[in-house]
Amino acid sequence: MSPKTPLLIDRFGRPVDGLRISITDACNFACIYCHREGVRPGAGPAGQERLMSPEELGRIARVAAELGIVKVKLTGGEPTLRPDVVDVVAEIAAAPGLVDLSMTTNGSRLADLAYELAEAGLMRVNVSLDTLDPAKFKFITGRDCLPEVLAGIEAALDAGLRPLKLNMVLLRGLNDHEVWRMVEFAREKGAILQVIELVRAPGVPERFYAAYHADLAGLEAELARRAERVIRRELQDRPKFFLPDGAEVELVRPVHNSRFCAKCRRLRLTADGRLKLCLMRPDALDLLGPLRAGVSDEELKAIFKRAVELREPFYKADAIGQS
Ligand code: SAM
Repeated sequence: MSPKTPLLIDRFGRPVDGLRISITDACNFACIYCHREGVRPGAGPAGQERLMSPEELGRIARVAAELGIVKVKLTGGEPTLRPDVVDVVAEIAAAPGLVDLSMTTNGSRLADLAYELAEAGLMRVNVSLDTLDPAKFKFITGRDCLPEVLAGIEAALDAGLRPLKLNMVLLRGLNDHEVWRMVEFAREKGAILQVIELVRAPGVPERFYAAYHADLAGLEAELARRAERVIRRELQDRPKFFLPDGAEVELVRPVHNSRFCAKCRRLRLTADGRLKLCLMRPDALDLLGPLRAGVSDEELKAIFKRAVELREPFYKADAIGQS
């Protein structure tokens, strides 16, 4: 099956070919800005028994792939904290038709895990790295382990988990002066720098957002000026800049951006097995409950289809004051 021929299209004409799966809510970092993938603690029937097993995740991925959802990203919490993360990857990788299987991770356990994950079928990773300054790293993540993350990046590159993307959330007055240093660091490593606009999702306090939110418009203009080529990605209308020295920089600008939402192609699966329609909205459909109750693949597919029917752009083009 080709990702060019998605089977699921929502009421707004948006194809859906991606699934972002949280495999645990647990994390060993305490990032000051974390949106927790839009899940408030206690929002669902959480609990250890609600964690999806590798086999359950494998079945969900297979059913989703049969519907044309052929790009899977694992997230968390911190996905590498799951003791069975390699089994999770292997089960999901076995889904026929998958064209992309990636993971977003804080990188702290990658030095130990990168090879096993690659062998199990993980194709690439995004490593969250907001700063190269150890003191700022500790301030942002609550952990003093920049060296472990840098070692994790090396291991992932060695293991062939490429293209490796570095996720940098831009924080005004905290790391915004470091962007060009990060561009250079990514270029040296043969990685892609992905600069992400701070999102005020549930769980991110208004005061924090007001203090640290940085508009990416100036950076986008500067990148456009320096780049020798610019493309816009199919996913979320993300601009990607190719600089003359070989650096590659992608921007993720979701806030008040109807073009971002118009090109959103993803569903989300929470760690307790609910299909979530949008990072910014609480709506979710239980998938794990019915799966454990023994429903057929066709019934699971009907839940996916219902989720696609229900999804709506968070920022709509016709809304006043939104672009
Ligand atoms: N622990 C993993 C990691 O660090 O990648 C996976 C979970 S983390 C929530 C996934 C990504 O979301 C990270 O790259 C993180 O920087 C980003 N993120 C978290 N909160 C955010 C926010 N409020 N705005 C924008 N990006 C955010």
